Amino acid sequence: MKITVAASAGFCFGVKRAIRIALETAAREDRIEMLGDIVHNEDVVKRIEAAGIRKVKRLTAGKGKVLIIRAHGAAEKVFEKAQALGYRIVDATCPMVKEIHRIVRKREQQGYRCIIIGDPEHEEVHGIQGQIKRRALIIDRVEAIPAHMPLSFSRAAVVVQSTQNSDTVKCIIEELKKRIPELVIHNTICHATRKRQQEIKTMPLKHDVILIIGSRTSANTKRLYEISRSLNSRSYWIQKPADIDPRWLRGAVSVGVTAGASTPEETITSVVAALKRVSDGAEDRECPLP
Ligand code: SF4
Repeated sequence: MKITVAASAGFCFGVKRAIRIALETAAREDRIEMLGDIVHNEDVVKRIEAAGIRKVKRLTAGKGKVLIIRAHGAAEKVFEKAQALGYRIVDATCPMVKEIHRIVRKREQQGYRCIIIGDPEHEEVHGIQGQIKRRALIIDRVEAIPAHMPLSFSRAAVVVQSTQNSDTVKCIIEELKKRIPELVIHNTICHATRKRQQEIKTMPLKHDVILIIGSRTSANTKRLYEISRSLNSRSYWIQKPADIDPRWLRGAVSVGVTAGASTPEETITSVVAALKRVSDGAEDRECPLP
């Protein structure tokens, strides 16, 4: 059985970098806090907690404490509040997200209203909105575009949450073009996301079975699974090697493995090792030699 792991499987550059910064900070500091989980993955969260980083819901007195800003960034007011409370800040915001922040600030200064294509509930989107003074229009699907665009948006700049689906973004932009006379578009879907989306559109067609590894709480793993399943009915969503049912692999000549952006490398490696054991076992049973 041939096993192929997607080049884009697992942590993206920004998440790897944020975890490294968090662990390096934990090695030299004592009292470290983070607003929420670093990624949507239980194993990684446990590792971060074991390193001594406390997850908090809100900031309190920060004297003598360090606050780590996660990969998807935070609003300006979070930085200001943390500094006012006495925290030292270690900023692990992904440079690609920082670039989106820079764009919206610049466009606002130039007099544009901002439109963010993204999930209104996501922290990355809150962080982008939190860079500018005027309220952005946040759109996650074509139906969410207001029927009557406010007059002040007749000159607008679009940015995109880094992990958005390219196809949905294209449709939204086409609609916006019809309704906004002066529209500047910054398609800020990051390279890691584009690569992942391209691979998941082709990989399920090239393999008999597809395994998608990731936590049940990971939205991007769910999206990968849904796309894969629509292209190949033998697509399975697993969290760990023990979830693999050997019956799924019956007769399979090639298996594709991919993983959500918050799945650690070790989990991917252990799934591949388990697949090899199943494959070797099958070969042993079928071996015609005594
Ligand atoms: S998904 Fe892209 S923008 Fe977001 S953290 Fe990863 S590399 Fe950075």
